[in-house]
Amino acid sequence: MGGFSAHFDFAGETMKEVTINSYGKINLSIDITGKREDGYHRVEMIMHQIMLHDDVTLCWKSSGIPGPVNDQNKKAGCGIKINVSSDKKYVPAGEDNIAFKAAALMAKHHGRGLLGEVDIFIKKRIPVAAGLAGGSGNAAAVLHGLNVLWGLSLGTKELCILGESLGADVPFAVLGQARCSPAVDEKTRKDPMASSCAFAYGRGTLLRPVTPLKSFVVISKPPISISTGEVYSGMDKREIEVHPATKELISALDEGNHKKVAVNMINVLEIYTLSMYDEVVYTKNKMLELCKDEPVMMSGSGPTVYALIQQKNKAKDVYNKMKEYNRETFLTETTL
Ligand code: ATP
Repeated sequence: MGGFSAHFDFAGETMKEVTINSYGKINLSIDITGKREDGYHRVEMIMHQIMLHDDVTLCWKSSGIPGPVNDQNKKAGCGIKINVSSDKKYVPAGEDNIAFKAAALMAKHHGRGLLGEVDIFIKKRIPVAAGLAGGSGNAAAVLHGLNVLWGLSLGTKELCILGESLGADVPFAVLGQARCSPAVDEKTRKDPMASSCAFAYGRGTLLRPVTPLKSFVVISKPPISISTGEVYSGMDKREIEVHPATKELISALDEGNHKKVAVNMINVLEIYTLSMYDEVVYTKNKMLELCKDEPVMMSGSGPTVYALIQQKNKAKDVYNKMKEYNRETFLTETTL
């Protein structure tokens, strides 16, 4: 792990680079408590960051600071060119990537007068469209990265406000990276909101830090993609009979009580996804068979299923067996 930053000056141009660890997340619980007037579902979730991460490297080549601002780039951020690429072909390049949208947003709000080019490279490890918030994490990493490269000293609150317009999971990723990614701005890292685990409510963008849980995590994604939108609209026609006891779950986390955490883990989105996708049922049943006493649950809207396992040897064993069923299987840990 670890990020780095570098700074070079040549021929009047400045070049700075930073790498932000863009972690994935799992949901220890998801509840739907109603629908908002704007059409979004009202949710309550416990989100936990995990060590599995993409590397988001941002390189800022400035050709105009601190020089005079010319008429052309006086308009917000218009003097900034953004390039996005990845080591994986299936990750969209350029404007379709959420990382591009995050950089454009930062340029609009905080790039006034800057002239130059930002290259963003994403080394992808987190499975895509999996319920692990990989794209949201990349967007948060760009907000943190430009905060460092442009010396903005924005705190987590300002970054979360920007992030929520990019996606509901982005503010949580901002807090998690602030806590664990070594290269983030010092002010952000010391922010009391910086946290690996949080209670998310409203649209999922209002956050309260919660005590993180130390655990190994085996993640297994069947070879299908599921759209989050499809699952939430499918849930409108389903009845939720058992809601998670979110307060109990929060106190179990405060106590570091694994057993109490396990009995309070419920993801109501399983009602829809498990009824529609046999591959997810199959993966969950296989994991349950191997894990026995350890909790197994779907993350987000699926299709990824994970197990929280306390002992490393057992986690390795489950990982090795699940790998035979799903190629995209990972052994990781929660971040603290
Ligand atoms: P979330 O929990 O935030 O919805 P997810 O795991 O369900 O995340 P992502 O991995 O973010 O889903 O991918 C969702 C879609 O976004 C994919 O179809 C993908 O093509 C697109 N996408 C755009 N930018 C990225 C990115 N940087 N990384 C991954 N996917 C991206």
